[in-house]
Amino acid sequence: MNFIEEIVEKDLQEGVNDGRIQTRFPPEPNGYLHIGHVKAICMDFGIAEKYNGVCNLRFDDTNPVKEDTEYVDSITNDIKWLGFKWGEIFYASDYFEQLYELAIRMIKAGKAYVDEQTAEEIAAQKGTPTEPGVNSPYRDRPIEENLRLFQQMQNGEIPDGKMILRAKIDMANPNMHFRDPIMYRIITTHPHHRTGRRWNVYPMYDFAHGQSDYFEGVTHSICTLEFTVHRPLYDYFIDEMLKVSTNEDWGTPANSRPHQYEFNRLNITYTVMSKRKMLQLVKEGLVRGWDDPRMPTVCGLRRRGYTPSAIRKFIDTIGYTKVEGMIDYTWLENAIREDQKEQAPRVCAIFDPIRLVLDNYEGEETIIAPNIDGHEELGTRELPFAKELWIERADFQEEGDKNFFRLSPMGREVRLKNAYIIQATGCEKDADGRITTVHATVDLTSKSGTEGGNRKTKATINWVECKSAVDAEARLYDRLFAVENPSAEEGDFRDLLNPDSLKIVNCKVESALRKEMHEPVYHDGIAEQHHYQFLKQGYFVTDPDTTAEKLVFNRTASLKDNWQKK
Ligand code: ATP
Ligand code: MG
Repeated sequence: MNFIEEIVEKDLQEGVNDGRIQTRFPPEPNGYLHIGHVKAICMDFGIAEKYNGVCNLRFDDTNPVKEDTEYVDSITNDIKWLGFKWGEIFYASDYFEQLYELAIRMIKAGKAYVDEQTAEEIAAQKGTPTEPGVNSPYRDRPIEENLRLFQQMQNGEIPDGKMILRAKIDMANPNMHFRDPIMYRIITTHPHHRTGRRWNVYPMYDFAHGQSDYFEGVTHSICTLEFTVHRPLYDYFIDEMLKVSTNEDWGTPANSRPHQYEFNRLNITYTVMSKRKMLQLVKEGLVRGWDDPRMPTVCGLRRRGYTPSAIRKFIDTIGYTKVEGMIDYTWLENAIREDQKEQAPRVCAIFDPIRLVLDNYEGEETIIAPNIDGHEELGTRELPFAKELWIERADFQEEGDKNFFRLSPMGREVRLKNAYIIQATGCEKDADGRITTVHATVDLTSKSGTEGGNRKTKATINWVECKSAVDAEARLYDRLFAVENPSAEEGDFRDLLNPDSLKIVNCKVESALRKEMHEPVYHDGIAEQHHYQFLKQGYFVTDPDTTAEKLVFNRTASLKDNWQKK
C-alpha cells in the first residue's frame, strides 16, 4: 500500500467527502503522453479502481498557443491502450464561463485587480524568498475600473501582454506564489481548440485547477511534487471561491472539497521526460516522430514492443514516494523481458549470414519445432530443412581453438537448433579471403525429437533454410542519449544525443514469419503487433513500416542487460 492509498483509506474510515472517492488525470493536450504520465495515470486510475471510486479524464486546456486536438486524440488512445477506463471526459475549457464569473466576483470583493505593468516590471517587484516584494502601482485601483478593464481585456480591446488580472493577496508572503499571482492573461493570437474565438482571456493553472477539481467533485487531487508549493494557493482560491459562492452555484456535490496530494515524478536515465524537449526532437527531425521507438512516449514504447502489462508492472515496481530520484533504464527493460519471457514465440533470425552446405544431405523435409522450448502446449511451427542453410558468421571459426565450441574444422560436434548434429569439414572464401560458405556433414541418426536427438553437444547453433528464408530489416535501438541525465548537463541537450541509438541491419528470418508480411492492420489507430524472441538476439516486434515486400522488426530489448558491460 502506498502513502496515498493510506490517506484514502483513512478518509474512507472517517467518512470524509461522504465516503466518495473521485480522482482525475489532468493532462495538458500539448504533447504526447510519456512514461512519466503513466506513473500519474496508474496512481489516479488505480486509486479509483481499488476504492470503488471514479477517475475522470480532464484536459487541462487553458493555453491555446500550444494545445491541439491531435494531442487530445493521442492521449485518449494511449490511456485506453494501457487498459484504464475513465468515468467522463472533461475539459478545463468547460469551465471558462464559471471561472470568468468567479473572477468578476473576486474583483467585486476587492480580491483581484488589473495590472498594466510589463512582465519585466512585475518580475522586478517580486522580491526574493527572504525579501518582500513591492506593490504594483495599479494594486489599489477602484473596483469599477478593474471590472471595466477586465471586460475590455475579454472584448479583445487590449493587446496580448498589455494587461493581466492579478489576485490581491500579499506581496510580502514568504511563499512567492502568494505575491499577487496572475489569474488571467490575454491571448488573442491563437484560436482555442474547443472554444475557438469565444475568449480573449485565459485563466492560469493556479486559478483553474483547484476550481475545476471543485466543480467536478474531485476528492483527491493527486499530482507531482513540484506542485507542493502551489498547494496553499490551490486551497486559497477554493476558500475565496466559497466566500463569494455556494455549491449550488457550480453544481458541486454537497460536503465535497478536493485536497491536493503529491508524489515523486518519474525520471529515467538516458532520456528526457519533458514534452517541450520531446517536441523539439520531433520538430527538428532528431527522431522519426513522437512514436519513434527510442522515445519515452507511450506510443514510442508501444512501437518499440512494450506491452501495457510490462509498463504497468514497471510502474508498480518503482512505487510512489515523496523523494525525487532517477530510475535506471534497465528496470524498464527488465520489465519487458519478464513480460515476454514466457510468451514470446521463439524464431531464428540470422544477422550476419554465411552459407552452410550439408554435403551428405539430399532432399528436403519439414521440422516441427516448439514455439517455446519445453512448452509444446504453446504451439509449434514448421521449419523447412534442406542441404543449404544460413548460419551466423560468428558460429564458424576456421582456426578454432579448444575454447571454441561451435563450428570449426577441428571435428567438434555441434547441434543445429531443433534439427541434426553436424561436423564442419572446411570452408570456401571469396577473392578478399572472406568466408562465404562452410561445408559440413550431418549425422542423420541425430535428429531432435528422435532417440538420437538426446545426444548432447557442447553447442547449439541457429540456422535458417536458404530457399525459404525471408529477408527482413531489423532496427536495433540503444539509449537515446549518451549521458545518464541529459537534463542535468550544461549546454544544449540536443548535443547529448547518442549518435549510435539506431542501427539498421538486414537479416534472414525463418519462413514462418512470412505470414506477418502485409500492410499493418490498425485498431483504433494502433497497429497490430507481433512479438517474438529472436533466438540469442533479443525480443523483437513487427513495425508498422512492414509491407507485403519487406518485413521490418524493432528490437524491444536484448535478452540480457549488456549495457553495464560497455
Ligand atoms: P511535461 O513537463 O512533460 O510537459 P507536465 O507535467 O507539464 O509534463 P501535464 O500534461 O501537465 O504534463 O501532466 C499531467 C499529469 O501528469 C500531472 O498530474 C503531472 O503531475 C503528471 N506528470 C507529468 N510528468 C510526470 C512524471 N515525469 N512523473 C509522474 N507524473 C508526471
Ligand atoms: Mg503541465
